[in-house]
Amino acid sequence: MQLRVLVLPGDGIGTEVTREAVRVLGRVAAKWNHELTLTEGLLGGIAIQKTGTPLPDETSRLAAEADATLMGAVGLPEFDNAPPDKRPEKGLLGIRRALGVYANLRPVRTYASLLDSSPLKNHLVEGTDMIIVRELTGGIYYGTPRGITEDGAETRAVNTMTYTRSEIERVSRMAFHLARARRKKVTSVDKSNVLENSQLWRRVVTEVAREYPDVALDHLLVDNCAMQLVLNPRRFDVVLTENMFGDILSDEGAVLAGSIGMLPSASIGDQRPSGAWVGLYEPVHGSAPDIAGQNKANPLGAIGSVAAMLAYSFGLKKEASAVEAAIEAVLASGRVTADLQPSGAPATTEQVGEAVCVAIERS
Ligand code: NAD
Repeated sequence: MQLRVLVLPGDGIGTEVTREAVRVLGRVAAKWNHELTLTEGLLGGIAIQKTGTPLPDETSRLAAEADATLMGAVGLPEFDNAPPDKRPEKGLLGIRRALGVYANLRPVRTYASLLDSSPLKNHLVEGTDMIIVRELTGGIYYGTPRGITEDGAETRAVNTMTYTRSEIERVSRMAFHLARARRKKVTSVDKSNVLENSQLWRRVVTEVAREYPDVALDHLLVDNCAMQLVLNPRRFDVVLTENMFGDILSDEGAVLAGSIGMLPSASIGDQRPSGAWVGLYEPVHGSAPDIAGQNKANPLGAIGSVAAMLAYSFGLKKEASAVEAAIEAVLASGRVTADLQPSGAPATTEQVGEAVCVAIERS
């Protein structure tokens, strides 16, 4: 299969973890005879330094041509006080919009060797394996009217939560599609006891569910979901929710796994004529200026993002499983970076990347 991938290393540890993720992708392509075409682009602080803008047109053009984009992280302390248009993070929102990625997927799973790093008791969190599907381009973060107004006597702030039927339908289909390849259960999360917006959400999700009779659907109110995530995380398979609820719940889900350096994410858009799904893949963490350039960063979130890319954009399930199994083998071997508190000397970013490649070769 032809894999056309754009790489945007970005800033700080983004460049270090992306190097290892690309190394793993190369090893997978060689082992399973895929034709890998890599291009590299500028995004974030490095793009501002070199071109004056966080998302150069050239990067948007390269992203439109690629089947999938692998991103590191953006953010440099020198831009902390820059105006909004000259901040590295603006590039991140811009590339998501340019690619039209409307579903953010965050897998949350626990690894046996990391159970003690979870803030929850082992018996509660063990065996957790869910994916949170968050609508990414609608809802209260984008709705208008919005703003803060003063009318002399009073100051008022307004945000608007808005969704259309078609926005709900497409992200729901993504969730049901994913559930079919998993344990066939979707939990839709809303606040339909209070919000009309959520009433439409629930109605449309229920209608879409009829297209997938083999997948079970249940509904949870968002406050109950927040509670169930820590009381009984194993009950979830695919969690489907709107933008703001997903933003909050996915961070709650993230801590179940232990270190932030472990967490991959995928943002998915429409299907290309080639059959590949447009996708932007990135670790959840930022550019970590405090450890940048020291070969200390955990690359497993970035490497997990490669597994997600293989599965979601290219449908290469066997290869994706091999990468996930290799991550698990490396964790079990104890050859891990300092954030995972190894018993002996911590491994470097590069050593962990190489260990994953060796485990893939052996698989
Ligand atoms: P951060 O995720 O960069 O770092 C938080 C803490 O986690 C730090 O102590 C860091 O050393 C540690 N950490 C993060 N990733 C790690 C890894 N792979 N291995 C080991 N330790 C890791 O968040 P922050 O410090 O709040 O933000 C730093 C910069 O990153 C800011 O400019 C912020 O805007 C940006 N940021 C970017 C993204 C993104 O590109 N998607 C996401 C979050 C933050």
